[in-house]
Amino acid sequence: MPEENVDVLIVGSGHSGGMVAKVLTEKGISCVMLNAGPIVDFQKDRELKPAYELPYRGFKMPGRLPHVFQANEFNANTWVDEKEVPYTFNRDEPYNWVRVRLFGGRSLFWARQSFRLSDYEFKAKDHDGYGTNWPISLSDLAPYYSRVEGIFRVSGHADGLPQYPDGNFVVDNSPWSESMQRLIAAGKKLNVPVCKARSAMGRDGLASSINLLLPDAFATGKLTAVPNVVVREITVDKNTGLANGANFVDRHSRREMSVKARVVVLAAGCLESTRLLLNSKLANSSGVLGHYLIDNVYGPGLVCSVPQARDDKATPDLMGGDALIPRFRNITTKSPNFIGGYALNLWSSDRAMGARNFADYGAELQRKLDSYYGSGFYMSMMGQVLSHYENHVSINKNVVDAWDIPVLHIDTKYTDNEFNMSRDAVDTGVAMAEAAGFEVLSKNYEPNPPGYSIHELGTCRMGDDPKTSVLNKWNQSHDIKNLFVVDGSSFVGSGWQNPTMTILALSMRAAGYMAEQMQQRNIG
Ligand SMILES: Cc1cc2nc3c(=O)[nH]c(=O)nc-3n(C[C@H](O)[C@H](O)[C@H](O)COP(=O)(O)OP(=O)(O)OC[C@H]3O[C@@H](n4cnc5c(N)ncnc54)[C@H](O)[C@@H]3O)c2cc1C
Repeated sequence: MPEENVDVLIVGSGHSGGMVAKVLTEKGISCVMLNAGPIVDFQKDRELKPAYELPYRGFKMPGRLPHVFQANEFNANTWVDEKEVPYTFNRDEPYNWVRVRLFGGRSLFWARQSFRLSDYEFKAKDHDGYGTNWPISLSDLAPYYSRVEGIFRVSGHADGLPQYPDGNFVVDNSPWSESMQRLIAAGKKLNVPVCKARSAMGRDGLASSINLLLPDAFATGKLTAVPNVVVREITVDKNTGLANGANFVDRHSRREMSVKARVVVLAAGCLESTRLLLNSKLANSSGVLGHYLIDNVYGPGLVCSVPQARDDKATPDLMGGDALIPRFRNITTKSPNFIGGYALNLWSSDRAMGARNFADYGAELQRKLDSYYGSGFYMSMMGQVLSHYENHVSINKNVVDAWDIPVLHIDTKYTDNEFNMSRDAVDTGVAMAEAAGFEVLSKNYEPNPPGYSIHELGTCRMGDDPKTSVLNKWNQSHDIKNLFVVDGSSFVGSGWQNPTMTILALSMRAAGYMAEQMQQRNIG
């Protein structure tokens, strides 16, 4: 597709790119979407092989995908191969960058936890005295959240808590299991709210851009999608300084191509969009491009057992179900040990428990596994990461990927705030479990390395001041007004919440603004 002219070029086909394509094409604007990886054939590519047909019996091939904890031999073709697209980091500060380049991106595989940010996050500086306020508040984004929740069919229950804003839910009035009721009662004693979890139900087993967003865009006849092309750089008109398209390379043939567009939208995922801008040397008059990398802290948590469920004695209503403890610290009181907040995911299971929860082996281990079967109760933390200018990515000029594109160097680490928060989360979980009469089998205070949550955010932050931010409140570059970045890189703070509902709402809002600006001939 050499030298074609289009209205809008979208780089990336995940949640953010899919949303922009849907909104723009439905308004009659023609779009070309370039995506680095192939289209998945769900019939063929998801065929499950038995473990005995796989050389490593389903476990990860040694040395393959070392930073993707989620990878195994069954799903190894899902993730970006670090040998093909490497990245570097300081030896003692690993970063787990988990990437998907298939058409649809990570929307094909996400776990679908779906939350709104609250004004405790949007206005964090006002509330916590640390960080930076977003240039928008919940009221700006609420109408978009509602529309996104409708499209993704988010199940949930209205709890009326300002730190856990209610939304446009498919109402979840399912009864609590008895083990959950015991935890809820324990929470009441300790002033810790326990709420229904919120999750995108999607349709037909998927809650992705390829089934919920892109079909509407294709139906308009206004979207052309090109898989298997890797964008190398964004190009600029030397006379106007405006973005005018991109240079890209065919993944297989390595043929170099270019496309011209009136408006360019980056939706390549937080770190890939940032890499593209850094490699293109664009949109960085503020000097903050690549800085303030954040995510969510994952890893700390505990494993418990409900004694009444052991030895096959569970009554039918005792076990099962999941729940969420939303942020409760630093709302009306102030923790002396950390800023911001965390949530805990809870789930009660009537299935087998993992052997690693028991410090036994042989016959005694088997006896414990049999006895504890179906009695597991799990709590796992999702914590806010504070923004620091020092946590940043840059281009490593000495390393290139398979298409000779310079790669990212990631320089980030957690600070005492994240470690102290983790301790508080696990100690709170233990206190609640004990108050509920559960046995605590194991606890882990140690966060996984940054990146593990797959929620990288913040390296193209939005703000009102072009001196301290890359984008304005419409996800539009301060420097280049026909350039937009709509993925999680625009975030100003992380909060405890999984980010995708916010990414979708911001993309929808940015695309509406873009269309308006194009119609008024202010851009494009
Ligand atoms: C296992 C898993 C579980 C998760 N669970 C949750 C959850 O429960 N809740 C939640 O909120 N979030 C969750 N997430 C995170 C969520 O998936 C992401 O926040 C979201 O999908 C990001 O969407 P995106 O469009 O910004 O980026 P992506 O989905 O990463 O899409 C980016 C696209 O850009 C393309 N691209 C990249 N570079 C280039 C280039 N140079 N040229 C051309 N194309 C390029 C890629 O091919 C890719 O398709 C999870 C993620 C995973 C993997």
